[in-house]
Amino acid sequence: MGKTGVLEDQHYDIPFYAINAYVYCPYRYYLEHVQGIFADNAHITEGRFIHATKSKQSRWGNKKKIPGVFVASEELGVYGYVDYVISDSDDLRPIEIKKSSSTHLYENDRLQLIAEAVALSESTGKNVRLGVLKYEGSGKRFHVKIDEKAIKKLKEILSEMRKILSGEVTPKPKKSTKCEKCSLVSYCMPPDKDLKRMVTPHSERKESLFVMRQGAIVSRTGKSFLVSYNGDKLARVNAHSLSRIQLYGLITLTTPALKLAVEEGIPVSFMTLSGKLITKLSAPLSKNVMLRKIQYQKFEDPEFVIPLAKKLMIAKLDNMISALKRLGKNRKQKAKTEFIKQQRRNIKTAKSIEEIRGLEGIATKNYFQELQKYVPEKFDFDGRNRRPPKDEVNALLSFVYCLLLTDIQGICESVGLDPFLGFIHT
Ligand code: SF4
Repeated sequence: MGKTGVLEDQHYDIPFYAINAYVYCPYRYYLEHVQGIFADNAHITEGRFIHATKSKQSRWGNKKKIPGVFVASEELGVYGYVDYVISDSDDLRPIEIKKSSSTHLYENDRLQLIAEAVALSESTGKNVRLGVLKYEGSGKRFHVKIDEKAIKKLKEILSEMRKILSGEVTPKPKKSTKCEKCSLVSYCMPPDKDLKRMVTPHSERKESLFVMRQGAIVSRTGKSFLVSYNGDKLARVNAHSLSRIQLYGLITLTTPALKLAVEEGIPVSFMTLSGKLITKLSAPLSKNVMLRKIQYQKFEDPEFVIPLAKKLMIAKLDNMISALKRLGKNRKQKAKTEFIKQQRRNIKTAKSIEEIRGLEGIATKNYFQELQKYVPEKFDFDGRNRRPPKDEVNALLSFVYCLLLTDIQGICESVGLDPFLGFIHT
């Protein structure tokens, strides 16, 4: 077996997506595949969404396409899934879908596709002379020739990648325009005024089950949850595909369904109809009592709490500034962020948690006032309101804050921290 356990070989087996990462930036490849640091950003999340939705379509022009085909090449030591395979007379063609809006072909995508094509040919014994790359953003399709020249280039790349895996070579980070779109920028580059950082959304590879139909019943069938109402089946969801269940208002959860959630480690949140968290059932709190003891001690120590609160708050304000700047850039307007920057400076010299909280409140109010400019008028959004939210935008904000809250609570509990003892807000 090779390192990945896929092929019998002395050399390191390499997944297709790693080839893409290496050609994009060798240091990124090193961080992900040697250091084991992965992170999502808006580009990756959107790309995953495109893959998930496109995989439901079954035709490519008038040809039938087969989604998600696993292939491997023993000769090259590469493996992975091809987005689609289409059959064209005696030939097969791999199709790779990317979210890019580019009108020209990227080299990293080209080399990934060449590897997929070689593996497809070796796995099926059929000719693969062309591969197709489609950029969803621009709608452009590129036909990539799979010839000796292309395979030679791929072999050179794979050899360089294996030198990194074996420790023979360690690449260095190199600042470029690619860094702005790179999800690892926060791990890689020091804080840098010139470098715009993307706001990074949480990586959520699993689904969430939200039940809002009043009177619905969530029961268990095998390893799945069944949602029904008045005897009609509304949905059936496999427990393995779920990361959380949220029940709003009058929803019944049967005991077997609750047991399944506990067995599978799926937290269940009971919410009011307006989205307020009533209680949450999750895996028992970690037995790390000493950690909680330290947490309680630190809570009483202003020399620990105030610098930590400042760090967190400055990070929050930085994200507000980045989000507004990005919105402004998209709309070709200059976002007003000076007021938030002023609160950021004030936080640095704040003397107490109360003062930090006050400055956070001022900055947040200003953020939402500025955000109004970018929300279409039809939504009638004039700042943040809650309990209950009075318009669609506020309802959406309350909803996602609630998701975030249950996620963070779960993370705290899983490592043994008490989520009810916050150092800034409780
Ligand atoms: S931030 Fe730049 S140098 Fe660092 S891994 Fe990403 S692309 Fe490479």
